[in-house]
Parts: sequence; structure tokens; C-alpha cells
Amino acid sequence: MLDILSKGLFQLLASSEGLKSLASTYGMRRYGFARRFIAGENVHEAIDAAHKLEKEGLSATLDLLGESVTQPSDAKRTTREYIQIIDAMLDAEISRNLSLKLTQLGLDVDRATAIDNLRRVLDFSQRHDFFVRVDMEGSRYTQVTLDLFETIWHLGYRNVGIVLQTALRRTTEDVQRMIRLGARVRLVKGAYKESWGIAYASKREVDHAYVRLAEALLINGCYPAIATHDPKIIEMTKTMARATAVAPDRFEFQMLFGVRRDLQAALAAEGFRVRVYIPFGREWFPYFMRRLGERPANVAFVAKSLLRER
Ligand SMILES: Cc1cc2nc3c(=O)[nH]c(=O)nc-3n(C[C@H](O)[C@H](O)[C@H](O)COP(=O)(O)OP(=O)(O)OC[C@H]3O[C@@H](n4cnc5c(N)ncnc54)[C@H](O)[C@@H]3O)c2cc1C
Repeated sequence: MLDILSKGLFQLLASSEGLKSLASTYGMRRYGFARRFIAGENVHEAIDAAHKLEKEGLSATLDLLGESVTQPSDAKRTTREYIQIIDAMLDAEISRNLSLKLTQLGLDVDRATAIDNLRRVLDFSQRHDFFVRVDMEGSRYTQVTLDLFETIWHLGYRNVGIVLQTALRRTTEDVQRMIRLGARVRLVKGAYKESWGIAYASKREVDHAYVRLAEALLINGCYPAIATHDPKIIEMTKTMARATAVAPDRFEFQMLFGVRRDLQAALAAEGFRVRVYIPFGREWFPYFMRRLGERPANVAFVAKSLLRER
């Protein structure tokens, strides 16, 4: 219950212009408090972060931060930007893996715009054996995101995967559907505050659903990504994989940049594949607030850094 309230509160604070301007003054300085969770404001900083992680035996996916665009011209500009990012990643020879949001490609303009723009990104990336993950946004986008994903899949694109959130009741069916399709799924608990009708009311239920769906994906899915920092679920995943003879190269763990770096390193040392989601970009504030909402202890960390910086 507390988790859900805290998520809601931080989602509200994320829209505060005053906080945003305070954060932009201090957050992204050289040792700014937001740097713990965000690699920087440009792609070169994100690539540097990826290089460092890869030296430690981890792999990366880059994410250009930004929320919904409503003008076709903005969607086109973001699409071009994604292609430039892929190009920069290829040049830098880091992991060929990018995460993106359909609202940045114009989903709020209309579906056709989002599909056209996604196809541009996928056409470019598949020439270079580059994988693109479509992130999942709040529940008002779930159905349309899945519809669009399936359209792209039926058009023959295979260098693309999807994200499903165990907080939503519908996800049990969506997991089965993606298994039948043979699509790669990243399983997450879900970062958005959702209403109780469509989502589980308690964290316990979300966690139970996670374990159940992770098992289904491990056994029948296509190279699933178990994206969580939850140590209990991670241990259970390892146990399930061993019990069902799923080899460590048939799935990967994924975690967010700056979150449980100890656990990321430990898993890699044990021989598991670990991919770190590296967000960057000028519009980092809402993402940053979502991370604070997940773990109020992070607020103390930010407060301490602010006091140090002043
Ligand atoms: C690679 C990746 C991609 C993601 N993509 C999406 C997406 O497309 N759509 C979406 O809705 N959500 C996405 N998420 C976010 C996800 O839904 C959760 O909000 C987030 O991962 C926190 O949940 P958890 O599974 O870590 O479990 P929780 O139960 O929230 O946390 C378990 C433990 O992890 C640690 N922890 C968790 N979060 C933090 C934090 N911010 N700071 C410090 N410690 C923390 C704590 O020790 C906590 O006790 C993604 C997460 C990851 C890892």
C-alpha cells in the first residue's frame, strides 16, 4: 500500500515545474545527485558509461529519455535522433541494444506515425544486427503498444522485443500471447501508478505474478529478460532455471543504471548475463522521480548530495 502511495506522490511531483528547475540546476553537474541514475545529457556520456560497464563484464541498453511528443515534426526529429544514437553506438562498438518509447515516436499523434517511425528505426538497426526494445508505458498505452508490436512482428521484423508489466492483471494472457508469437519479452513489475481494477492492489500479488510469469517465460519464452532488482526473485529465477535445465545463456537479467550495482556485479561474476539499462538525455527529470518513488531511501541520498553541493 505504502509503495503504491509513494509511486503516486512521486508521479505527481514529477510534473512540478519548480522542482524540475531546481533539479536541472543541481542534478546534472559533474557529481550531481541525478548522475547516480542517469548517465548524462548526451549520447557520448551514455556510451562512456556503457564502456565502463562492459569492462566489468556487463552489457548495456541505451535509453534516450523523453516523454510523449504530440507533433509529427517532433516525432520525426526524435526518430532521426534514435538513428543517430544507433550509429554512434555502432561506431563505439558497444552492445547493439537500444530501448525506446512509442510515445516518443508519435503514438500520441496517431498509430500510423508511430509505426512509420518505428519501421525507420528498425530498418536501420536490422542492417546492423541491432536489437530494439519497445518499453512499456502507462496502462492507457498497453493495448495500442502491443497491437503495434504485433503489426511490426507480422511485417517480418525480428530485431525487436517488448516489455510486459506484472502489476497488470492482463499480463498473464499477454505473456502467453508473446510466447506463442516467439517474441522476446522483458518482464518488469511496472513503474506507473495504475488503478486497482486493472492492477494488483498489493506488492505481494505483483511479486507472485512476477515469479509465475518469469517461470513461464524461462521455460517456454524466447530469451526473456528478467528485469528486476528484487534479490528474492533473482534467487528464485536462478533456482527455476537450474530445476528446468534452462542454461544461463538462454535468458538475461536486466537492471537499471545505478541501482543495486553490487548485485549486478555479483550476478556477472557468477556467470549470468546482465544488461544495464542506461538512461540519458536532457529530459531526465520524470524518469529520475520515478526512481525516487520506487525507493524513498533514495530521497535521503539525494538530500545528502544536495547539501554537499550547496
Ligand atoms: C532494465 C529495466 C527496464 C525497465 N523497463 C520498464 C518499462 O519499460 N516499463 C515499466 O513500466 N517499467 C520498467 N522498468 C521499471 C520496473 O517496472 C520497476 O519499476 C523497477 O524495476 C523497480 O522494481 P523491482 O523489480 O526492482 O522491484 P522492487 O520491489 O521495486 O524493488 C526490489 C528491491 O530492489 C531495489 N530497488 C528497486 N528500485 C530501486 C531504486 N530505484 N533505487 C534503489 N534500489 C532499488 C531495492 O533494494 C528493493 O528492495 C524497468 C526496469 C528495469 C530493471
